[in-house]
Formats: sequence, C-alpha cells, structure tokens
Amino acid sequence: MIIAIDGPAASGKGTLGRRLAAQFGYRHLDTGLLYRAVAKAVLDAGKDADERATAIRAARAFDPACLGDPALKSDPVGNMASVVSAIPEVRAALIEFQRSFAAAPPGAVLDGRDIGTVIAPQAEVKIFLTASPEERARRRARELENRGEAADYDAILADIRSRDARDASRAVAPFKPADDAHVLDTTQLDADGAFAAALALIERNKR
Ligand code: C5P
Repeated sequence: MIIAIDGPAASGKGTLGRRLAAQFGYRHLDTGLLYRAVAKAVLDAGKDADERATAIRAARAFDPACLGDPALKSDPVGNMASVVSAIPEVRAALIEFQRSFAAAPPGAVLDGRDIGTVIAPQAEVKIFLTASPEERARRRARELENRGEAADYDAILADIRSRDARDASRAVAPFKPADDAHVLDTTQLDADGAFAAALALIERNKR
C-alpha cells in the first residue's frame, strides 16, 4: 500500500508520516528533503554561481545518502527549496527516485506537496493535511524554542505565507489537493489527534 500525505509547511506531515509508517511497518520518505538537498547545494555554491544551473546539476546528481544531514532542516534551506522546486528540470530529475521508493515492498508513506497528484496518483490513501497559517507558525515557533533557538513569530508567519503562495502558483506540479484526497484539518488537533484521525481515515478508505 502507498499512503500519500501532502500538506503545506509546518502542517505536521513529517510527524504524521513517520508515525503511520511505524504503525504499518512501511518505509517513510520526507520528499521535502530532496528539494532541500538541492537548495543546500545552491546555497553552498554561493551568490556568484548560476542558481538554476547549479540546482539542475544537484538534482541530477542527487544522492539519498545526504538525506540525514541535519543542515537540510534550516529555514533558509527551506525557503530556497521552495524556489528551486519550481524549476521543471529539478522536479523531473527527482521523480524516478520517489516513484521507486513508493513502489518497493512492503509499502510506503511519502509526504510532500505533489505525492497524490504527480508522484503516486495510484496511492490507495491520500491525505491532504492542512492547518491555518497562524497555527502552523505557532507550531514552528514552538519547535525552534524547544531546540533553544530564537523564534520570531511574525517573521515565521510571513515566511509560511510566501512559501504557500510560491508553491501554489508554480507552473509545474502546483501545490493542490488531488481530487480523491481526504482533507484533514489539524488546526484544532495535536499530533496524537491527527494520527488517530488519519488511522480512522485509512481504515475506512484502504482498498
Ligand atoms: O516539506 P518541506 O517544507 O521540507 O519542503 C520544502 C519545499 O520543497 C516546499 O516549500 C516545496 O516548495 C518543495 N517541495 C515540493 N514538492 C514536494 C516536497 C517539497 O515542491 N513533494
């Protein structure tokens, strides 16, 4: 079985994806990390390098060994990820890895922005996770504070809004729910509540 989870930044899709994968004994792929790896290569190359050419080269040379790099999680890398992910050649270069991951037994949970629409339209269960931008900004701020880092709520909210807008407006694989996705709004739910709601949804809908 393939479980597709799509959702905006800080909607909790990573946490939910990991928990569902553990529940079913499946493998889990956070596909945002692929775009973050490309973004990090662009940032590492410096301002003088050709952003677009560097991004395409990095996507074509993508090595899954880099997925555990904690530097991929930073906000500057996340913002650059939403820029490079609009480049069609970058998206094309990363499709094969994601589709092979999804197809390998025993089953997989993939989270991202285009899993239900482009990467695995055949997924048995598609969850579209949402939460208000304000709630997502609060979660992100709490996460940073828990790590002992400074958190500027207004700046985080502005970042979230601009990433949402950029992801939804790009020409290739724009961020939107698949027609057959189940929308799960977690604004009023904590991680346990989202997990319970997702499990109930999967039980009702798996084919
Ligand atoms: O999910 P995460 O915040 O790590 O994703 C970083 C960026 O990568 C997103 O803002 C989005 O632009 C891009 N992305 C994408 N398609 C995916 C996953 C992430 O375009 N499947």
